[in-house]
Amino acid sequence: MRPEHFPPDIQPHLIPRPAGQLIYRCLGCETAFDIEKLLYTCPACGQVLLIEDRDFERLKEIPPEQWRQIFDYRRMLTLPALKGIYRYHEFIGPIIPLNAVVYLGEGHTPVIEANAGLQEAVGLRFYYKNDGQNPSASFKDRGMASALSYIHFLISSGKVSEVLAVCASTGDTSAAAALYAAYLRPHIKSAVLLPHKKVTPQQLSQPLGSGARVFEIPGVFDDCMKVVEALSDQYEVALLNSKNAWRILGQESYSYEIAQEFEYDMADKVIVVPIGNAGNITAVMSGFIKFRRIGLIDDLPTIIGVQSAHADPVYQYYQEPDETRRRFVAQNVRASVAQAAMIGNPVSMPRVIELVKRYNEIAGGQKVHFVHVPEQAIMEWYLKANRNGHIACTHGGECLAGLKTAVEKGVIGKNLTAIVDSTAHALKFAGFQDLYFENHFPEEFAVRPEPSLINRPVYMHPGELTQVPAPGRPLTGEPFERYVRAITRLIAEDLQLTRKAQS
Ligand SMILES: *Cc1c(COP(=O)(O)O)cnc(C)c1O
Ligand SMILES: [Zn+2]
Repeated sequence: MRPEHFPPDIQPHLIPRPAGQLIYRCLGCETAFDIEKLLYTCPACGQVLLIEDRDFERLKEIPPEQWRQIFDYRRMLTLPALKGIYRYHEFIGPIIPLNAVVYLGEGHTPVIEANAGLQEAVGLRFYYKNDGQNPSASFKDRGMASALSYIHFLISSGKVSEVLAVCASTGDTSAAAALYAAYLRPHIKSAVLLPHKKVTPQQLSQPLGSGARVFEIPGVFDDCMKVVEALSDQYEVALLNSKNAWRILGQESYSYEIAQEFEYDMADKVIVVPIGNAGNITAVMSGFIKFRRIGLIDDLPTIIGVQSAHADPVYQYYQEPDETRRRFVAQNVRASVAQAAMIGNPVSMPRVIELVKRYNEIAGGQKVHFVHVPEQAIMEWYLKANRNGHIACTHGGECLAGLKTAVEKGVIGKNLTAIVDSTAHALKFAGFQDLYFENHFPEEFAVRPEPSLINRPVYMHPGELTQVPAPGRPLTGEPFERYVRAITRLIAEDLQLTRKAQS
């Protein structure tokens, strides 16, 4: 539909124009900094930043009911800049003109209700939101679309010319960064740092295919992070990790989409997200808070942050019930199948502390909870999800295991409806499924395959068959018929098929 075909009261709001007054706000000393520079930490005290719109209250001039209509009507537009996360332009990057928006197909990922059997096994009604159906097959595209649209804006307005974008990654950040940077050739080049042998082959292939410079270094993610922090402190590079507050803005779209998908009724909802560097849970909380401030939603949903017991510094921090006595302790992580969340010193921890406090205050009670789960449970729920028609990654399994734990421990009631984040596509982590099915897990994972969950291919080559077809050597005549007969019989036996009645 074209803009002129929409209702007259919607038309003026349909296509957003640049507005708002964005600033970086330091979470340590609360100083505000101009948005025109690429900042990652506070120049005064070194703390992480969040982006704030000083003119946010202007959004209240449009009543909530009209906002809902605007977002619904934007669904019908064919304008690429509004097809992705910038459907919520006013809440994500209001200063960015639409012609600077980079859209590669991110956002608006499917929300799929689990079948009856799986819901019964978990103990409540739930849906998966498949963020693996983003262009680089993980939710990281949301934040990259935001960060790269902003950099694109700086380039097209002549504020910067050439940009070298860098990031450290557990796999998916580098895939997304390299993809978006490749689209913006030749102005942007990218370099990514990965912990050697700690990303899957699929994740390694992604930045290589996008033409990024790929560095594999010894250590774990936390070590890579220290190196890119040193690089971005000392050299002219753009940091694309979630330390970059623009990433957080883009990832808020996940919350906005859930609100819109469920008709803005968040009262009985619970959102389940995995935690690694904690950028994602920061964005999810921040997004719901913003919609609540404008009255688009009346209630904040419950949020459950899930960590593997092999990398659970955020969970451990909140184990201390007395807020004044909580102390953050960075961890040395152990091996985890939720590899993208294998982080012992999350960069966004100060943001989590700040936002959890704010979230619970606004909600008028504890609405953010943390659980941790063993590797064994992560693998089992990952496999069970996919056996019931989902395409969950290991982090999607981690979330489902976390939801089950939260229900069992009474953290949440069974009357709630959960939306479970599968942060990446199952195929990125297929190697862990192989390890399980072949019972080859290294000791450090502490995963023991449950026989009923193992599935392996069956090779059918009957001993009596001396001749079988091969590429370039087809069988014909009697040998071919013997081959078809023998294998048909074996498969029918294996499947215990009933012979059709002779007519
Ligand atoms: C990055 C990532 C996470 C962790 O998200 P954070 O923002 O680092 O907490 C979880 N799952 C997948 C698939 C990821 O790529
Ligand atoms: Zn500061």
